[in-house]
Amino acid sequence: MRGLALGLLALAALGGCVATTTSYPSPAITAPIASEPSGPNRYSAAARAALQSELFACSGYGSNIGQIGSRGEALAYSPYIYTPAGPLLRNPTETACLSSGFGWRGLADGGERQHNGLDLANPSGGYVYAAADGQVTFANRRGGYGISLEIDHGNGVRTFYAHLSDVDPNLSPGAFVSAGQPVARMGRTGNATGVHLHYEVSIDGLTVDPLHYGPPPEAAPIM
Ligand SMILES: [Zn+2]
Repeated sequence: MRGLALGLLALAALGGCVATTTSYPSPAITAPIASEPSGPNRYSAAARAALQSELFACSGYGSNIGQIGSRGEALAYSPYIYTPAGPLLRNPTETACLSSGFGWRGLADGGERQHNGLDLANPSGGYVYAAADGQVTFANRRGGYGISLEIDHGNGVRTFYAHLSDVDPNLSPGAFVSAGQPVARMGRTGNATGVHLHYEVSIDGLTVDPLHYGPPPEAAPIM
């Protein structure tokens, strides 16, 4: 356990994330991960996304993760982001903790840079799901993002998933996906020092904060 925590701290430092001094008490990752699939239709047999009612900060480290409660939970969290294209999954992973948030974050060299998405981490990997119904617009390697997937949900809303270990081989640009469909596996391809999903949501070409975009939970329409 101690070794794991130290390893995570080391990964955070290597990744340019600033490790906070706050150690969150919660077991951020609890559910077991489905075993690595094999075969050309390995994704079609996998279970769809479960709705996650809470998101926890990764225990012991994290950068730019915003307001976190005493149990290590992201405050005002709800499973959906309400957008002009309808609801998107806020955490489109099998199970993960929040290791980095959206916005300006410090770098190990003292500089800062804009982080255009959420980092949702799990050293064991796991499935990544389509945040909503949509059409694949990109499924390939993209520089430092590594193996990546982009989905167009209509009305100017797109989601982007990076550092994947692999994408469902049946998905290529033009393919339709449905909300919660397993589409990829979390990995560390590209410029990533640990296994995590880099998750972006963009509206009319501008990225928004997937943790805070849209109306608060109490104001959200009933789906
Ligand atoms: Zn990221």
